[in-house]
Amino acid sequence: MPVLTPSPLDSDALVAPLPEFALDPQPDAPRLRDSFGRALTDLRISVTDRCNYKCVYCRTGNEGAQFTELPIADYLRMVRLFVSLGIEKVRLTGGEPLLRAGLVEMVAELAQLRAAYSKDGTPCAAGAEGRPLDIALTTNGHLLESLAAPLKAAGLTRITVSMDAVDPETFASITRVPRSFDRVLAGVRAAQAAGLGPIKINCVLLRGFNDSQIEPFAEFSRREGVIVRFIEWMPLEEDRTWKPDTVVTLDEIVARLNRWRPNCSTPAGLVELPPHAASETARRFTFADGVGEIGIIAPVSRPFCGHCSRIRITSDGSIRTCLFSQSDHDLYAEMRRGRSDRELAQYIRRVVLRKEARHHIGEPGFEKPSRNMVHIGG
Ligand code: SAM
Repeated sequence: MPVLTPSPLDSDALVAPLPEFALDPQPDAPRLRDSFGRALTDLRISVTDRCNYKCVYCRTGNEGAQFTELPIADYLRMVRLFVSLGIEKVRLTGGEPLLRAGLVEMVAELAQLRAAYSKDGTPCAAGAEGRPLDIALTTNGHLLESLAAPLKAAGLTRITVSMDAVDPETFASITRVPRSFDRVLAGVRAAQAAGLGPIKINCVLLRGFNDSQIEPFAEFSRREGVIVRFIEWMPLEEDRTWKPDTVVTLDEIVARLNRWRPNCSTPAGLVELPPHAASETARRFTFADGVGEIGIIAPVSRPFCGHCSRIRITSDGSIRTCLFSQSDHDLYAEMRRGRSDRELAQYIRRVVLRKEARHHIGEPGFEKPSRNMVHIGG
C-alpha cells in the first residue's frame, strides 16, 4: 500500500470559495482528488434506506429504515455534479435499491451522462463527447427477476447480487425471509438472460455460520457462469457482534479452495488471474481448467485503502468519504440552501479533502463508524 501523507485541512470553511476551482465545474479544472492524491472515480449512491432482508450479520432484525430518501431528481443532480468533477462509475445501492420507485428511470437518466475526463485523467475537450458512465447496481436480488430486463434496457452496465449461501435453508436463516433463495436464483438467471452477465455474486462469510459454503459457491460459479466474490466481514453491523475470530480471511479461503478438486478430470488448485486495475479490490482466481471465477475481497486482513477511489452518498443526501467515517457531510442541506452547482462543486472538493487515509479495523482504539453498512450503502 502506498504511504499516505496527510495535508492540513481547514475544518471550518467547507463552503468557503476556493479560488483555484472558482469556475467549477469547468473543462480544465483538475479532477477530484483527496489530500493524499487519490483520484476519486467511483461514486456509490444509496437510493433508499429500506431493505426487505434482515441479514443477520448486517441488521438487528428489529429496526427498519432510519434515514429518509430523496426525490430521484435530487440524486441525479448530485451525480451530475460528481461526474463533472471526475466520477466515472456510479453504483446504485441501498438499503435495497430495487425497492425504490423510479429506479429504472434513474438508470435511463444516468445512461445519458458522459465522463468529463478521459482515461488518462485529462479533461475532455470542450464539445467532445466523453465515455458513457459505468452504471452498476448492488442488490439482494429478491425483486430482480422482473426488473433485470428493464434495467438492462435502461442502460445498466453491471450488476452485483448479494448471496451468502447456496444452500436454501442456510440462505433463509441468514436473510430471515422464507424461500428467499429461489427468488434470488431466479433473479440471477434473469439478469444473465437479459445480458447483464457476467454477474458478480457477493458472499460475506462468517465462521461457524456459512463458511461451509465456500466449495459449494465454487461449484455455483462454474455451473452458473457467475463470478463469486467472498468478502471479509467488517464491523459495520447494526448489532455489536463483530469479532475478529468470526472473519474468514483471504488466506483461509485460498487454502480451502486450493485443496478443492472441481471434478475428476481437473486437478485441485486455484490459478490467480491478473487484476483489471490497480484500484481493483478483489484478488481474482480461476481453476486449472479455466472454468469459474472466484474473487476475494479482504478489507480486514489485507486493507486496500491506499488505492481507494470511492466516495458515497447516503439515501438522505450526505457524503461519506469512507465506510468508517465518524461523520457525514450534508450535501442535501447545501442544496436546500439554494447553493448553485458551482458552490456545491466547491463544497464537494472541500469535503473530499477530508477523506480518511485508511480504516483502523482491528487496531486498539478502533471506533465504530457513525452509520452501519445498510444505512450507508455498500
Ligand atoms: N441490499 C443490497 C444488497 O444486499 O446487496 C445493497 C445493500 S447491502 C448493505 C450491500 C452489501 O454489503 C451486501 O453485499 C452485503 O452483504 C454487504 N455487507 C453488509 N454488511 C456487511 C459487513 N458488515 N461487512 C461486509 N459486507 C457487508
